Amino acid sequence: MAVATDGHRVRPAGELQRGTDPTAHPAPASVSLVRKIVHVDMDAFYAAVEQRDEPRLRGLPVAVGGGSERGVVMTASYEARRFGVHSAMPTVVARRACPELIVVPPRFAAYHEASASVHEVFRSFTDLVEPLALDEAFLDVSDPKRGPPSGTLVARAIKAEIRRTTGLTASAGVANGKFVAKVASGMRKPDGLTVITPDEVPGFVAALPIEAFFGVGPRTAERLHALGIRTGADLLRVEPLVLHEALGKLAGFLLQVARGVDERPVVPDRQRKSIGAERTFARDLEDRDVLEDELAAVCETVGRRLTRARLAARTVTVKVKYRDFRVITRSTTPATPVGGTRELRRFAEALLFTTPRPAGALRLVGVSVSGLFAADRRVVQPMLPFATTDDGAVDEAARAAPEHGCEPRGPP
Ligand SMILES: [Mg+2]
Repeated sequence: MAVATDGHRVRPAGELQRGTDPTAHPAPASVSLVRKIVHVDMDAFYAAVEQRDEPRLRGLPVAVGGGSERGVVMTASYEARRFGVHSAMPTVVARRACPELIVVPPRFAAYHEASASVHEVFRSFTDLVEPLALDEAFLDVSDPKRGPPSGTLVARAIKAEIRRTTGLTASAGVANGKFVAKVASGMRKPDGLTVITPDEVPGFVAALPIEAFFGVGPRTAERLHALGIRTGADLLRVEPLVLHEALGKLAGFLLQVARGVDERPVVPDRQRKSIGAERTFARDLEDRDVLEDELAAVCETVGRRLTRARLAARTVTVKVKYRDFRVITRSTTPATPVGGTRELRRFAEALLFTTPRPAGALRLVGVSVSGLFAADRRVVQPMLPFATTDDGAVDEAARAAPEHGCEPRGPP
């Protein structure tokens, strides 16, 4: 059963050769269990798009929103924010605060287009992208598709590429968990990059006001204040039982986060069709032993991505390219889905060595898995049900940093 596929991501050949692809042959020392989560947030997104597209607006206080009596500001430019103008503020009030304010109606098509470009940049670094809004996403770059395996360097590269492709600036936060990454991205806006190392996380969280925590709305904050809790450090000083009594389920989550533990996965929202990797060899290969090693390395990469994304696959495909650039693929759909490197390798080996194919030296071997589904749905679900916050806020994540609270959560 031969299935032609061209679903493989093509990397520049040089990047794939032995020794130059950091993900292909990880030296034991470089294998890190610390996750690298990046939260990227575009700066004053709608207003920035308007200022980019209309040079006359640059350097001026601009508000995107409704100009009518009952209009509301959706996003304010940084020039307008200096006057205290912020999102969700009635336009009438905003004009009073800033008489020079230029109110422009939203152009959602332009924002969607810019957002698509930004997300394309994200996905060129990792498939683990969890969008939170048009202008905001979590990325798990622990095992990036390209670039060095450093959260800081990848975040810097993402910011630079966003700027180059869209002409817009973004701020990024880097940490080992989503919560801290999100707070960090709001710390040095605009065009900021804030990295909180794993060592720094506990101290960082301890110093945060309780209002900054996921799931803590005004009513929860009041209840916590009544218990004398104002910061992350205070959370750990209180008897856990007292906290559980006051907050229910949320208490367990807050205690974890206050201890610097936040293992919620980055959950990509769109269904991925396949995960694949391939290797182009420095010289063409025919020897089975050598090919077996190369295939194992490719399976290792694919298996790791599969496991990290907490997915299992129904179909395994092996692709080979010959010296004359002929490409042949072989697929199998085993009775039991494939969930890890070892099984993947077994099926890939069978496809490469026991399924008949033309003889000849190979210049490339690729492996991909498709028919993906959540390996463990309980894990794939976010651990904290945000919808159950006491004050019915749409997205408590917005409270993680004051900046975010002012941003629109997407088109109304
Ligand atoms: Mg933003």
